[in-house]
Amino acid sequence: MKFNKSEWLFEQSQKRIPGGVNSPVRAFGSVGRTPLFIDRGEGSHITDVDGNRFLDYVCSWGPGILGHAHPAVVQAVQEACQKGLTYGAPTEKEWRLAELIHAAMPSVEKVRLVSSGTEAVMSAIRVARGYTGRDKILKFKGNYHGHSDGLLVKAGSAALTTAVPDSSGVPVSYTQNTLVALYNDTDSVGKLMEEYGDQVAAVIVEPVAANMGVVLPKAGFLEYLREITTRYGALLIFDEVITGFRLGFGGAQEYFGIVPDLTTLGKIVGGGMPMAAYGGRTDIMDMVSPVGPVYQAGTLSGNPIATTAGIVTLEILKEHPEYYKDIEQKARRLARAFQNRAKNWGEEIWVNQIGSLLSAFFTTGPVEDYDSATASDTKAYAAYFGAMLEQGVYVAPSQFEAMFVSAAHTEEEIEETCRVIEERK
Ligand SMILES: *Cc1c(COP(=O)(O)O)cnc(C)c1O
Repeated sequence: MKFNKSEWLFEQSQKRIPGGVNSPVRAFGSVGRTPLFIDRGEGSHITDVDGNRFLDYVCSWGPGILGHAHPAVVQAVQEACQKGLTYGAPTEKEWRLAELIHAAMPSVEKVRLVSSGTEAVMSAIRVARGYTGRDKILKFKGNYHGHSDGLLVKAGSAALTTAVPDSSGVPVSYTQNTLVALYNDTDSVGKLMEEYGDQVAAVIVEPVAANMGVVLPKAGFLEYLREITTRYGALLIFDEVITGFRLGFGGAQEYFGIVPDLTTLGKIVGGGMPMAAYGGRTDIMDMVSPVGPVYQAGTLSGNPIATTAGIVTLEILKEHPEYYKDIEQKARRLARAFQNRAKNWGEEIWVNQIGSLLSAFFTTGPVEDYDSATASDTKAYAAYFGAMLEQGVYVAPSQFEAMFVSAAHTEEEIEETCRVIEERK
């Protein structure tokens, strides 16, 4: 396989764009290769600028649940474009999308459309603070909620209570109201809530963690969060930017049967366009300006083109509940392939899978939190990534990202991928 054009473009891009990319993981840094510059995507495949064609299991990091360039989505977007790209005024489509989101997640009684997951989470936290009149938030180590200042934290080494910035440029004072607990560890939550519970505006969690690789919540963990937040008068925020419309049409809250106070959405909700959303109970959402005192706005919020892509995508998913069973079965088949590979080759691999999300961790496992996830052998992952790529399969260029299955992946393509995984070339 030749990558000459990608290599040339990467060199040029690095001169004008930091690292040559507009989001760091795209740089292929942790797998030590040149990133592929993509020319086109069709269904389950992407094609790079050198003409190499790959089966795609990144799916733009989640949005691509219907595959690339779904004809109905593309047609609707093209038609919408004819009518203008943005007006900065309300449209019928915003209301239609809000209704679709509410139909999927009844807990989202009112919703605001924004332009990125980062913005959705940032705004939801502001609302939680406005509503409760409290400043602190509690998040989990290894959960990702976008790149806003207060959430780019790591747990302090001495105690989990002292969060420190995880990025240069974030003032320590911005992270002082962020508490960090351990995912799947109810004791770590209980202790923090005992000490700070009456100052905590919200506990925010990825109901299925998918940004340290896929890590499932242990039985009772999410129930515990629901119970303890209620007990202390804090809000529970489900960050469903990945799980929303992915674990099922109703997301993780439907899958696990837990009703959060606020929900953040992104990725699938925009159907491949820059759109995200946050919403929840009416009394909470009515804190948002112009009804309430919490300010939040956006020039391109609810953009008609993005809204069109979102509506068509959600309508298709709503009409095809069987897609979810199908992609779950395919993900299960892929998980088995990794297990077979481990068995056949004596390789240390632990697989976590739920719905159409999975991660193969190159470690003995079990992987159930940040520390066990980061115990993975990232060199082994890099070798696996390179071998997959050379055989025409594009997986995430990082151990700590999910593998996504879309409705466009055929049975034959899954079997072909399983063969590549199991043969371990
Ligand atoms: C991707 C992601 C975000 C951030 O969304 P962006 O659109 O990249 O800003 C937030 N939360 C979770 C769980 C995510 O996976």
